[in-house]
Amino acid sequence: AAGAQTLNFQAEVKQLLHLMIHSLYSNREIFLRELISNASDACDKLRFEALDKSELFEGEGDLAIRIGFDATAKTVTVSDNGIGMSRDEVIAHLGTIAKSGTKEFFSQLTGDQKKDAHLIGQFGVGFYSAFIVADKVTVVTRRAGLPASDGVKWECAMTGDAAGEYTVEAIDKAGRGTEITLHLRDGQEDLLSGWKLRGLIRKYSDHIVQPILMKKEEWDKDKNEQVVTAEDETVNQANALWTRSKNDITEDEYKGFYKHVGHDFDEPLAWSHARVEGRHEYTQLLYVPSHAPFDMWDRNARHGIKLYVKRVFIMDDAEKLMPTYLRFVRGVVDSSDLPLNVSREILQESKDIDTIRAGCTKKVLGLLEDLATSEDAAEKEKYATFWKEFGKVLKEGVGEDFANKDKIAGLLRFASTHADTPDETVSLADYIGRMKEGQDKIYYVTAETFNAAKNSPHLEIFRKKGIEVLLLTDRVDEWVIGNLPEFDGKQLASVAKGGLDLGKLEDEAEKQEAEKAADEYKELLEKMKASLGERVKEVRVTHRLTDSPACLVADEHDMGMNLARILKSAGQ
Ligand code: ADP
Ligand code: MG
Repeated sequence: AAGAQTLNFQAEVKQLLHLMIHSLYSNREIFLRELISNASDACDKLRFEALDKSELFEGEGDLAIRIGFDATAKTVTVSDNGIGMSRDEVIAHLGTIAKSGTKEFFSQLTGDQKKDAHLIGQFGVGFYSAFIVADKVTVVTRRAGLPASDGVKWECAMTGDAAGEYTVEAIDKAGRGTEITLHLRDGQEDLLSGWKLRGLIRKYSDHIVQPILMKKEEWDKDKNEQVVTAEDETVNQANALWTRSKNDITEDEYKGFYKHVGHDFDEPLAWSHARVEGRHEYTQLLYVPSHAPFDMWDRNARHGIKLYVKRVFIMDDAEKLMPTYLRFVRGVVDSSDLPLNVSREILQESKDIDTIRAGCTKKVLGLLEDLATSEDAAEKEKYATFWKEFGKVLKEGVGEDFANKDKIAGLLRFASTHADTPDETVSLADYIGRMKEGQDKIYYVTAETFNAAKNSPHLEIFRKKGIEVLLLTDRVDEWVIGNLPEFDGKQLASVAKGGLDLGKLEDEAEKQEAEKAADEYKELLEKMKASLGERVKEVRVTHRLTDSPACLVADEHDMGMNLARILKSAGQ
């Protein structure tokens, strides 16, 4: 075999390693979860590739993950008989970060351990977490289907607190798959214990589908100590969580599984687990995270649903399984009907997928509705959190998902003149519940900032009459309103448009007074109009203002002024 070749890490990897070691040591236990998760992914990939290439199993179809330790050498080993890596793959996957959004990731780091830990989790850079507990990591791997002589050894040692390079070397490896050896740092010796490692596996990786094996330990009476035997023992539950009955799954198991599928350090906000029977049979386990991912606004960001067919992993990020406005949802869909060789291209066209997506969408919206309408204060608080984190994304649904428009509209929350604070807590149903007698419209004003909305002169008459007005200051609101002409039979109306007809809310006396005034000031109005020229369509007397001398209004059928401003700033 050729000698070892020394290669440099990509700059981002160096930065990441530094960060891992300096800001994640208080979360050091996650290294095992991450390495087991990679081993599990590798087994999934092998199973998938072997669907039409069974020779990849090399006669060994029982996939498993193995954890071992050597107290004398001070090493912990994680190995799997999954897909393995070729030399090129080793260099690509363990020397660079291929993911998009690397820059945003680094720019979002705060130095706050807890927050940064979230980011690392979401970013999926789990392999490097090995360096939290190890100062040297050795990876020995061979890709399934390649000859034993195509094995690869990758090694990286920290010098001081930094690593700049690693070595790659060709070796012989009889069995396919990957073995990762962690040479523990001083002070990490507590990990050299079967009891400790079993605890971590059960805590973080119980839901892993493949068996996680360790050598059984026995009490040796003569030596008066625990000794490792030659017999294997499965440490985890080793079955797909979503296939188990709801009643047999604990909250902690659900949460643990979320951390795995959601690449998240935090707990989920809520989840929905259901087996759907009927024309298409599938199981779905969907989670709403408790915070927005850093790349939520990145159009190329990964979507979080894993697709399985009859428990065989098919693909990550199956974006067709969720509408874009629910792209923050994480979880698993396991179909009983799709063909095992389903590809992304097939998914694009599949009617089955459309049905599954419609079903999953309904479930998520139902889950959110339950939170929003719950009598339970803690659940309600969860909805408030949800709205803060994901409200802006959910709003997109009003224009995107015609079938569920009313449901989504019911989930929207706004600021309004009722509380006069920027907190978005008012639902359209709340608003309707507070409507004045004779009021038949939902009134809103749009502006660039909350203060501009709140102090809009258009509100004066409404404040005087005690009519609530929604204060919309999000850019996407214009578009939301444009797609939502009415809710529950009530029209949505801008207070800043045209000869706004307040209908039964109008005070006859005030109206007549205004008409009289219009006659009286006819000459003045014409003079003003003449001097303003092209810039206005009309100058009118109004009784709508109580404090301000004048205000601008858009014509009934014209574009609202805030929208005009937004379009102008966008160069249109
Ligand atoms: P992620 O798992 O999110 O892709 P990681 O940093 O955990 O990020 O792993 C990087 C990549 O290294 C994986 O995507 C995979 O291609 C490769 N890899 C890591 N561990 C293994 C393994 N045990 N077997 C095969 N490939 C692996
Ligand atoms: Mg990983």
